[in-house]
Amino acid sequence: MAAANEFLNIVGLINESNKILVVGHIMPDGDDISSVLSLSMGLQKIGKEVVSAIDWKIPSYFNEIQEVSSIKTFEEAKDFNPDLIIIVDASSPDRVGRFSEILSKFKVVVIDHHGTNVFFGNYNWVDSSFGAAAQMILRLNKELGVKYDERLAHINLMGIETDTGFFKYSNADERVFRDAAELISLGARPDLIARMILENKKLEQFLLLSRMIEKLKLDCEGTLAYSYLSQEDYKEFNCSEEDSGGFVSEIRSIKGVEVAIFLSEFEKGEIHVSFRSKEWFDVSKVAVILGGGGHPRAAGATIKGNIEEIVEEVVRVTKSVLEGERK
Ligand code: AMP
Ligand code: MN
Ligand code: MN
Repeated sequence: MAAANEFLNIVGLINESNKILVVGHIMPDGDDISSVLSLSMGLQKIGKEVVSAIDWKIPSYFNEIQEVSSIKTFEEAKDFNPDLIIIVDASSPDRVGRFSEILSKFKVVVIDHHGTNVFFGNYNWVDSSFGAAAQMILRLNKELGVKYDERLAHINLMGIETDTGFFKYSNADERVFRDAAELISLGARPDLIARMILENKKLEQFLLLSRMIEKLKLDCEGTLAYSYLSQEDYKEFNCSEEDSGGFVSEIRSIKGVEVAIFLSEFEKGEIHVSFRSKEWFDVSKVAVILGGGGHPRAAGATIKGNIEEIVEEVVRVTKSVLEGERK
């Protein structure tokens, strides 16, 4: 169904519902947390009973946003009996963790901007032309008649700012800047969001970064760069996976690199693979082959197994797609 119709269907469905569960994705990022909170705050402003939930630990650097403490765990949210579930920023059911097991019992709306979305809701507003899901929430809130205050504007901006790499990726188009300007005029503070996420590092993260750099390898005449961190690396520096958040972008920033891969063993035997590309290579194609998804310039997958073997496998698959598509 055309996106415009689906948008209006979803507005109608929300207006008819009283109890709404808003769910984000596992390994939540700034766009996801922003989208969950902005939609939940908007729905509360128009009188809905709302529970917000994410089945994953929220990185501690988001705790400066006090509203983050209202996001419930799966255990805390599972007994809420909603009229409607709205899932934001997630492309497939496995991305919502254990919530995937209860979806069949409820009416489910999916609001997402991933080109790899599999349309797993009863209603799916999916539009990959948006740089951030938070831009879709801004439009939905406005259509629902939500009045924006400074807090809502600030939290809504966080998703737009983080998913565009602080307004520097190719998805930072005119509409992104217009939406950001609108939210700034309503009281959002882009400087505080950037400081909270980019200038809040502990010293150990630099030691972890140096380990990642030690393990860095270049291939395909310097167009492919990759590195990884094992559980032992994280433990050695008293860090966890949230401390390697920006590492894949550091790898992509190398001159001549088109494709960057960073593999993180976030738990023993469980590896998250982050892909980034600079100009032309569609990393979401590789992520999909590996069971994940994402966008053309930023994608990911989660794989179980031995870290060194998975590094080899991921590099092999990426090289075969890259060599097939090289311009
Ligand atoms: P990340 O590398 O985790 O920052 O993710 C980059 C992009 O890929 C984000 O838009 C994610 O939502 C998406 N992504 C990451 N991991 C997965 C996955 N396992 N399945 C589908 N999409 C993913
Ligand atoms: Mn996300
Ligand atoms: Mn997003």
